Amino acid sequence: MFKEIAQQFEDDCSYDEPMSKHTSWGIGGCSDLFYSPKSRKDLVYFLSSIDPTLPITWIGRGTNILVRDGGIRGVVISTKSFLKEIIKTSEHLYKVEAGVACVELALFCQKNGIGPAAFFSGIPGSIGGALTMNAGSFGMETWDLVKEVEVINEKGDISFLEKESFDIAYRTVTFPFRLWFLSCSMSLSSDEQTTKDNLIELRNQRIRTQPLSEDTCGSVFKNPPGNYAGALIERSGLKGFKIGSASISEQHANFIVNEGGATARDIENLIKHTRQAVREKFDIDLQPEVRIIGEAS
Ligand SMILES: Cc1cc2nc3c(=O)[nH]c(=O)nc-3n(C[C@H](O)[C@H](O)[C@H](O)COP(=O)(O)OP(=O)(O)OC[C@H]3O[C@@H](n4cnc5c(N)ncnc54)[C@H](O)[C@@H]3O)c2cc1C
Repeated sequence: MFKEIAQQFEDDCSYDEPMSKHTSWGIGGCSDLFYSPKSRKDLVYFLSSIDPTLPITWIGRGTNILVRDGGIRGVVISTKSFLKEIIKTSEHLYKVEAGVACVELALFCQKNGIGPAAFFSGIPGSIGGALTMNAGSFGMETWDLVKEVEVINEKGDISFLEKESFDIAYRTVTFPFRLWFLSCSMSLSSDEQTTKDNLIELRNQRIRTQPLSEDTCGSVFKNPPGNYAGALIERSGLKGFKIGSASISEQHANFIVNEGGATARDIENLIKHTRQAVREKFDIDLQPEVRIIGEAS
């Protein structure tokens, strides 16, 4: 069945696609079907033509997901080739589409003298991923700026929802129903400009503290209340600890590095080991920030 769908949508679809090509860890088994639409019209047509019981997984730039070695059953939909626009809709409101990279939004704001958006510059994901994760840094979070979102459901119906329709917390957003983001309306003003100096300062801070040249997924665990996951992991003596080809970064203990050839199983085992070590030493159960999806091999 997947081969037939791949043939029908051949320009935008591939069969048995290695997810390692679409994740920042460079890890992950194959998805049955990988669909990368070029327009909303194509996406709506695709959703209305496939079997509605097929499982669907939506991804942005794959910078916060661990795809297991057995891959993903059903369809993966990627925003890598569409939803790339940022449009001014009124004095302080901008429509930002879900496929825009967070760094592109930061640069757009710097160019147009609006903000605050410098915090987006070091987040390597898409706006769709940032909305799902309530991504943030340096004291700001994505949903601080959001007024309304445009969403699509599995039947291809598009609707608009107010921010109040969602429960929003630190790196957690609870949806009112199963949906995916197409765009959001963000409040960005010239009162809080994003400057080149802001961007350089935050970039330098990241270079000093994070292993940016390695294959990682950013912070693996959320910070527990009043504490830092990285500090707890470091104080558990785990910096440099390795399982297979996955290791706890020497530079930042909340980052796990794929040193080359690591499997999802290596990373998942390292996540489990780290949780257990921190629980035993501090009686704190670290909660993963990364989303673990797909099937074990
Ligand atoms: C070096 C590095 C640094 C990082 N620094 C930060 C940081 O400072 N702060 C921070 O918060 N995060 C950080 N991250 C993590 C990551 O970049 C963010 O969580 C980002 O928002 C994920 O976006 P993405 O497009 O990669 O999402 P993906 O990893 O592709 O997906 C993440 C989740 O979002 C869902 N999703 C993606 N797009 C949509 C959509 N359009 N509609 C509905 N669901 C969708 C997916 O199904 C999945 O559940 C970092 C990662 C790396 C590698």
